[in-house]
Amino acid sequence: MLDKRLNIGVFGGTFNPIHNGHLRAADEAKRRLHLDIVIFVPSHVPPHKELENDTSADHRLEMTRLAIGDRAGFEVSDLEVRRGGNSYTRDTMRELHQTYPNAKFTFLLGIDAYKDIATWYDVESVLPMADWAVLLRPGYEREELDKPLGRLAELYDVMADGSLWHEESGTRIYYLEIESIDVSSTQIRARLETHEPTDDLVPSAVGDYIRKTGLYES
Ligand code: ATP
Repeated sequence: MLDKRLNIGVFGGTFNPIHNGHLRAADEAKRRLHLDIVIFVPSHVPPHKELENDTSADHRLEMTRLAIGDRAGFEVSDLEVRRGGNSYTRDTMRELHQTYPNAKFTFLLGIDAYKDIATWYDVESVLPMADWAVLLRPGYEREELDKPLGRLAELYDVMADGSLWHEESGTRIYYLEIESIDVSSTQIRARLETHEPTDDLVPSAVGDYIRKTGLYES
């Protein structure tokens, strides 16, 4: 029997809280990239953004677990929360490579996260550890895609389809226009603060958890 290489998508984020936009994007990426599994990895301390409301990593992890439930082909990893401290993607990818030595990894990230990539910790080591699928959310501008890599762009060849190829590692950075849902965690927190309903934006189990715990109430 052929030993098929596992195709794993990694979706990192703060998930404060996780919302239907995340789920829909992961679903679409999984289908279109033929990923066997997508692993959601909630961060402990996100190095790149202020964590509003100080929502604990345990709450964010629990909401992510509730959102995924027993959906086939999706998993939640607590590796960043367990590791504690700043959640550097370099360390996370190292750990995942150790756990799944034969897998091929694709890191999923939205265009807003990609825009900051040049500032990521040890970014030159991180990029060759996986393929990178940049999810283009509604309203993106083509010019936004040229700048994020800065001087790192020199390490890549531009392919005919616009994707970037890193010859040494055999990894790619490419863009995926997704249907997505134009929603962010910021919008959800704002609604919750003013006691507006969020039922259309988060899975019901997550909504129940937020109500039960009183998270995001000002
Ligand atoms: P915030 O509003 O607090 O900045 P967020 O909604 O962007 O949060 P994160 O947890 O920071 O959520 O996002 C995790 C990943 O999901 C990032 O790569 C982000 O770009 C992407 N993402 C967030 N919302 C969407 C969406 N609606 N569609 C597609 N990707 C998304």
